[in-house]
Amino acid sequence: MRVGEDKILDGRGVAKKIEVEISKKVDELKEKNVVPGLTVILVGDNPASQVYVSYKEKACNRVGINSSLIRMAKDTSQAELLSEVKRLNNNDSVDGILVQLPLPDQIDEEEILKAIDPAKDVDGFHPVNVGDLVVKGTNLAPCTPKGIMELLSRYDVDLEGKEAVVVGRSNIVGKPMFHMLLDNNATVTVCHSRTKDLKYHTKRADILVAAVGRPNFISGDMVKEGAIVIDVGINRSDDGLVGDVEFEGAKKRAAAITPVPGGVGPMTIATLLMNTLEACEERRG
Ligand code: NDP
Repeated sequence: MRVGEDKILDGRGVAKKIEVEISKKVDELKEKNVVPGLTVILVGDNPASQVYVSYKEKACNRVGINSSLIRMAKDTSQAELLSEVKRLNNNDSVDGILVQLPLPDQIDEEEILKAIDPAKDVDGFHPVNVGDLVVKGTNLAPCTPKGIMELLSRYDVDLEGKEAVVVGRSNIVGKPMFHMLLDNNATVTVCHSRTKDLKYHTKRADILVAAVGRPNFISGDMVKEGAIVIDVGINRSDDGLVGDVEFEGAKKRAAAITPVPGGVGPMTIATLLMNTLEACEERRG
C-alpha cells in the first residue's frame, strides 16, 4: 500500500483487510470442523477494560472466531482466577486465553500470566513467549507492537538501517517493539522517563514510536522531517481520544503518521485475531 497525500497510515483500513483474510482462513478451518475460540477473562468492572473487551468480542464475531467472556467479581481471589485459567488451559476448544489487564490489587498479575498455557497465550505476555521473541521471534507476540510491524510492512516501510526511536519501555509495547524493530535491522533507541534530552533522540528518528500515555506529549518540533510516526497513546481528554503525539504539528513534518483513533488501536485488535488463528492452527494442526 502507498501513503496518500494525507500522510495517514490507515490502521483501520488495513485492519479491515486483515479481517477479510482471517475470515477466509476461519472458513477453511470450519470446513475441517475446527472453530477457533478465544476466551477473555474480565475481573471487575473497569470501564475502559469493558470497552476493550467488547471491541475484541465484536471483532471475533465479524471473522467467525468463537468468543466467550468470563466475568469475575472485582474481589475474586488469586486462587479462583488461577483455577479458571487452568480450566481453560485444559479445554481443547479454547485456542486463545486473554486475561484483561489491569487486574485488581489483590491479584498477582505475573503469576496469572505465567499460569496461561504458552500455546494459548494470544497476548504474548507469558515468559516463554517473551523469551522466544527475544531469542528467535515468535508467532504469539504482543498484539500492539506486532500490529505496528504489520502496518509498517503493509505500507512497505523499509526499516533496514533506519534510526528507530521508541519512547516508552513497557512490557506490552516499548520492550517488544524494540526487539521487533531490531530484528528487522533498524538501529533502535529506547527512551523512558529518565532519558536526558528526549528531543535530541526523537529528532534523529526515521521511525518514531510514542507509547507514553500522555496526551500530545511529542510536539511537532520533536519530529524529524520525513519521519514515520507511530502514535500508540490512547488518552481520554475533553476533545475525545487523543494520542501521545501532537497530531497536526507532527504531520507537517512527518512523511506518514498514524491517527488516534484509527491507527494503532484497530491493528492491535486485528493482531489479536491473527494470534488466535495462529494459536489454533499451531495447536490443532
Ligand atoms: P506504561 O505506563 O506502562 O509505560 C509508559 C512508558 O512511558 C514508561 O516506560 C515510562 O517510562 C515512559 N514515560 C513516562 N514519562 C515519560 C517521559 N517524560 N519521557 C519519556 N518517557 C516517559 O504505558 P503502556 O506502554 O502500557 O501504554 C502507553 C500508551 O499506549 C497509553 O496511552 C496506553 O493507553 C496506550 N496503549 C494503546 C494500545 C493500542 O492498542 N493503541 C495498546 C496498549 C497501550 P518509565 O519506564 O521510566 O516509567
